[in-house]
Amino acid sequence: MNKTKSKEILGILRTVIPNPVCELNFETPFQLICAVLLSAQTTDKRVNIVTKELFETYPTPEALMKADYAEVYRIISSVGLAKTKARNLIGLARQIHEVYHDEVPQKYEALVSLPGVGRKTANVVQAVGFGIPAMPVDTHLHRMAIRLGYIDSNQSVVEAEEAYRKYIPKEEWIDAHHLFLLFGRYYCKASNPSCKDCQLEKYCKFN
Ligand code: SF4
Repeated sequence: MNKTKSKEILGILRTVIPNPVCELNFETPFQLICAVLLSAQTTDKRVNIVTKELFETYPTPEALMKADYAEVYRIISSVGLAKTKARNLIGLARQIHEVYHDEVPQKYEALVSLPGVGRKTANVVQAVGFGIPAMPVDTHLHRMAIRLGYIDSNQSVVEAEEAYRKYIPKEEWIDAHHLFLLFGRYYCKASNPSCKDCQLEKYCKFN
């Protein structure tokens, strides 16, 4: 990979994905962090279904922190890992209410100290919630990084994040995150990618 090639790839992605935005429904950084926490091993569509009731029932960190675990579990039970996520949601709400006075923190170190919040979730909250340049790498971005030659096939998610940050200008990280994610989700799927007529074929190492 080099910066010129990466720029060309992003240019093509912009023509394929003209509106690169987050597909999770949220209105506040608190709702965003809850939605991203719920999205692990679950589709955004499924998350949007359960967050409708979750956010209506518990609109603030204080309300969610006081929630009954069984009721939170009931609301989110159709998402993967619901038991752990229900526990983490309540713990996360408690910490945001008690330590951060109901404001989701913006600093990476503070975000990853919250229950259930790892590297990717912290990066998404920074990028999507606060507009802070960050390059969250999920399974789609990891796969795209390998197929398009940002990293080798044996390299990790963290190495993919480092490669994207190296070859993409900082001011484009947030857009680039959405572009790779949506292209991976709808076109370059894990199995049966839409290779026929793919404009990225000349950069692609998949076949
Ligand atoms: S050619 Fe196929 S595998 Fe390669 S980027 Fe395009 S859709 Fe993905």
